Amino acid sequence: MRRTKIVATLGPSSSDPQIISELIDAGLNVARLNFSHGDHESHGRMIDLIRSIAADKNTCVTILQDLCGPKIRLGILPDEGIDLVKGETCVLVSESNAEEGALPVQYENLESDLKKGDRVVLADGTMELTVEKTEGKRVICRIVRGGRAFSRKGVNMPTSNLSVVAFTEKDRRDLMFGLAKGVDVVALSFVRSAADLVKIRSILAKEKNPPMLIAKIEKPQAVQNIDEILPMVDGVMVARGDLGVEMPLFDVPVIQKQIIRKARREGKVTITATQMLKSMVDSNLPTRAECTDVANALFDGTCAVMLSEETASGMYPVEAVKVMDALARATEHHVISEYSMKSDEHVMDKKNIAWAVGRSACWLAKDIEAGAVVAYTESGFTAASVARFRPSVPILALTPNKRTFTKLNMLWGVVPGLTEGFSDIEEMFSSAAEIAVAKGLARKGDSIVITAGVPLGVKGSTNMVKVYEI
Ligand code: PEP
Repeated sequence: MRRTKIVATLGPSSSDPQIISELIDAGLNVARLNFSHGDHESHGRMIDLIRSIAADKNTCVTILQDLCGPKIRLGILPDEGIDLVKGETCVLVSESNAEEGALPVQYENLESDLKKGDRVVLADGTMELTVEKTEGKRVICRIVRGGRAFSRKGVNMPTSNLSVVAFTEKDRRDLMFGLAKGVDVVALSFVRSAADLVKIRSILAKEKNPPMLIAKIEKPQAVQNIDEILPMVDGVMVARGDLGVEMPLFDVPVIQKQIIRKARREGKVTITATQMLKSMVDSNLPTRAECTDVANALFDGTCAVMLSEETASGMYPVEAVKVMDALARATEHHVISEYSMKSDEHVMDKKNIAWAVGRSACWLAKDIEAGAVVAYTESGFTAASVARFRPSVPILALTPNKRTFTKLNMLWGVVPGLTEGFSDIEEMFSSAAEIAVAKGLARKGDSIVITAGVPLGVKGSTNMVKVYEI
């Protein structure tokens, strides 16, 4: 059983029901819908389609809604683009002040936010400008790295303290749509600090069973403020695409390690994203370097690995998921034996009973060679308290709550199972054993370690460990 979760971005290459079905068979756990593109109608259709295919297969696919945040883009340019020649100057203007020959940028505060010496990076880092001066509404830049600029290409301003809000009006509308559709995980782009998460957190707090919240770490400020961001979220994404534009590309590997390590210590979910199998956009085999990159992300301790254009617009979406699956299976048992349950990998609050119980369940399962740790969980809290310790055995997370069921699938090592609600604990034990056997995690004669909060059904009350012999 694979423990690492596979996130795949769905798009034009993967919107056909047959391809979605094959992606699930290949090992897709989490379907990412990128709200930078598409409209509510098309995303809604996709969510319904994924759910119905997963239900037909009697399996679980988690839906991740990726909110685009304040992504800044160039406005409309001539079809043939505009050449930017190294060493020459060019003029940036906000789109509402567009003028002949200048590059329009879809950002109103352009001239007030950019200062002399600031970097402006275009089209995923392929072109770079330095601000020389501002003249009224015009920003005069020197072209440091040239190329041809086209309409709607990305604009990053990594050195500026942008006044834009992190959670935009479009994000709010998209989030309300996602909540109505019952998405399981929401990721917010271009987070810089804990303050950027206050608004979205307050909206999620009104939900009875809110989706998990992921902060995409792709700004230098987010890297700097990671300690204040982590307590606000359920997880983080190392979004290497924009991170490698906003920060020196060569710093990304070390930042990836540092972010994953910190998030793991706090028991947060981690997703490593972007260009993991980039060559598979048009090749049916990955490069050696890509295989090593995916494996190294697992050694860094990531919970999940993510595919973007490989599955959204590439020629080999199903093969890319198969490669991820094979790589995770080939690598993760080394990771488990090296890191599993190491105490210095975790922040342990001595008064936190749930974490102590979760860790004890993991050690117990290892010592008695149990088939699985079974976490009976209403909100997902008990399962997360086990998953954070990365036990050497699978975690079977049982819940009577359908929303929790699909959220659980995001957690490292967790096999989610839907069950009835129990008030009688003996009934829960025997049902847990039955499901563990049915899912092939244990056989008659094996032991399982069951953990839950008693009385059953009270969130945050994880307080029980039971060795159950089948
Ligand atoms: C990234 O920048 O790596 C990323 C995952 O974000 P997006 O694909 O939304 O640009």
